[in-house]
Amino acid sequence: TNFISVKNEFKTYGTGTHAVTANEDISFEIKQGELTIILGASGAGKSTLLNVLGGMDKLTSGSVNVNGTELADLNSRELTTYRRKKIGFVFQFYNLVQNLTTVENVELASEIADNAMNAAEALTAVGLESRLQNFPAQLSGGEQQRAAIARAIAKNPDLLLADEPTGALDYKTGKKILQLFQDFTHKYHKNVIIVTHNSMIRPMANHVIEIADGQVKSDTRNDAPTPVE
Ligand code: ADP
Ligand code: ADP
Repeated sequence: TNFISVKNEFKTYGTGTHAVTANEDISFEIKQGELTIILGASGAGKSTLLNVLGGMDKLTSGSVNVNGTELADLNSRELTTYRRKKIGFVFQFYNLVQNLTTVENVELASEIADNAMNAAEALTAVGLESRLQNFPAQLSGGEQQRAAIARAIAKNPDLLLADEPTGALDYKTGKKILQLFQDFTHKYHKNVIIVTHNSMIRPMANHVIEIADGQVKSDTRNDAPTPVE
């Protein structure tokens, strides 16, 4: 069954002579439990697509259905509720609140969710059980990204969206982060979409959608993704 169905999605910024079409007639489907990579060069339209899927931005036309919710039909208030309750976000630079401890960062994010996990449990799931009372500045980059992932999964989201999640990390640390995403999809049948320009992580995904100039250039599935060892 399809978890996400995108049909003829367009996103244009601005109007008239200043209009920029960032997504042009994009269509694809994502099945329940897939680890999907949206791959493309800078300016291809990846973040725009991620922002539409996450309810940060409204599509201009077409259809984007996420787990039964048609995003084209939501007004901006409904999109905010969708974003807060259904989606977990992971960013390149972690975006942790610096004056809150690790466990407080996770608690803050899960307050708004309906079925939040216990914050300490979420941090244990990413291997940070010994770091609950530390502040972000006391953690390494890899640990901060783990904390950010704990914050995202603690909301118990339908969908995890990650924008260049390994972009600020060294290769080895990045692999550990990808392993967490693989666990999230393969063990718990949740959905993760990673946006990146880094084609090295391609073999680790179930599904790779390549975007160029705002359009889908290729859409391939891999039934035997390489486990991150
Ligand atoms: P990527 O994430 O692949 O680097 P983006 O989705 O950020 O690509 O950008 C796609 C295109 O849309 C680019 O031409 C970019 O300049 C344009 N764009 C993105 N966001 C905005 C915005 N808020 N206003 C105007 N143009 C934008
Ligand atoms: P990782 O496995 O995330 O790459 P590192 O090997 O970089 O971890 O770091 C090991 C330990 O050193 C971490 O537990 C962390 O507490 C500490 N550490 C690393 N970088 C920093 C930093 N910039 N500031 C404070 N502590 C750090």
